[in-house]
Amino acid sequence: MPKAKETILEIDLNALEHNYRYLKSKLKSNTKFLAVVKAFAYGSDAQAIAKHLETIGVDYFAVAYTDEGVALRNAGITTPILVLHPQPSNFSTLIERCLEPSIYSPKVLKAFKEVAIRKHQNAYPIHLKFNTGLNRLGFWENDIDFILSELNLEKSLLVKSIFSHFAASEDPNETEFSKAQLATFNSISNHITEALEIAPWKHMCNTSGILNYPEAHFDMVRCGIGLYGFGNSKSENKNLKPIAALKSIISQIHQIEPGESVGYNRAFKSESFETTATIPIGHADGISRQFGQQKGYVFINGKKAPIIGNVCMDMIMVKITGIDCNEGDEVILFDHQFTAEDLAEKANTISYELLTAISQRVKRVFTSS
Ligand SMILES: *Cc1c(COP(=O)(O)O)cnc(C)c1O
Repeated sequence: MPKAKETILEIDLNALEHNYRYLKSKLKSNTKFLAVVKAFAYGSDAQAIAKHLETIGVDYFAVAYTDEGVALRNAGITTPILVLHPQPSNFSTLIERCLEPSIYSPKVLKAFKEVAIRKHQNAYPIHLKFNTGLNRLGFWENDIDFILSELNLEKSLLVKSIFSHFAASEDPNETEFSKAQLATFNSISNHITEALEIAPWKHMCNTSGILNYPEAHFDMVRCGIGLYGFGNSKSENKNLKPIAALKSIISQIHQIEPGESVGYNRAFKSESFETTATIPIGHADGISRQFGQQKGYVFINGKKAPIIGNVCMDMIMVKITGIDCNEGDEVILFDHQFTAEDLAEKANTISYELLTAISQRVKRVFTSS
């Protein structure tokens, strides 16, 4: 790998493929694999990731919003795409671009049915989302009669799947709760399947569900973070490879004397002679101010350099006293060794948040390890 010459997010498509094959090996051969590529494929590059996964045989994609699905269609993705959180104002576009909505409330069902009829659809695929304990989006079990009455003899719509979402599938202290969610989902799906006289697919598992609840794999799983290299546990992280590495360079080195300060608000005050390096990455790139004040650090020539003072919009300053380095040297924010999860922990957050925060300003570079 050539050294970074500017701030880049390196994306390793071989690692992606490794993660896909590992996670797929956990499934029965007839269980379908839906790849969640919302939020720019967890801050990487949704189009490139989806293209690669499409060529290696993923069955389905999911995004959060309609426009994310439109971007994938514009990039030539032909695999079915589930839109997890569409709004009625987008339903027309959604149908025009062959995107499949998650229908999660009586209001949304009525609105989608109206648009499907107006646009003369026949058996347009929809996915019914049930709330089994996350209390975020989804029908309640007692909405089933309403759903059935709306769908009765309705030819414009076809219930392709019913699904739910775990609240804490990664947490071994919450297995009882997760199992109760699963039981509720089973009861809902039996009820619906009998009444509709068709058998929609069922799906419930995110990454940690795949790893921890094989009895919940059903017809399809919805995998996000695992594809990007994180398994929400130390033991599963060993089986996966982080696909993204965030790298930058040293723009300038300064010698600081005792009593001098560094950065806005003079947030770092030096008590001794220190050497600092200025790095061209800041909160506008996704390195939050939470990482300032020596909570976060970067690696330069294998050595830890703490972020001092406040994170600026376009820069951070790090302490490099005693580190053998020069202007122009490569800086690692995270990679496969010091991972995004490791860095995220320093600011009390999680890999998901740090990865999806990497802004579009950071250049994406693709590699194959
Ligand atoms: C984001 C999301 C997923 C993926 O979760 P991971 O933990 O990243 O695997 C699955 N299902 C739904 C409904 C989601 O919103």
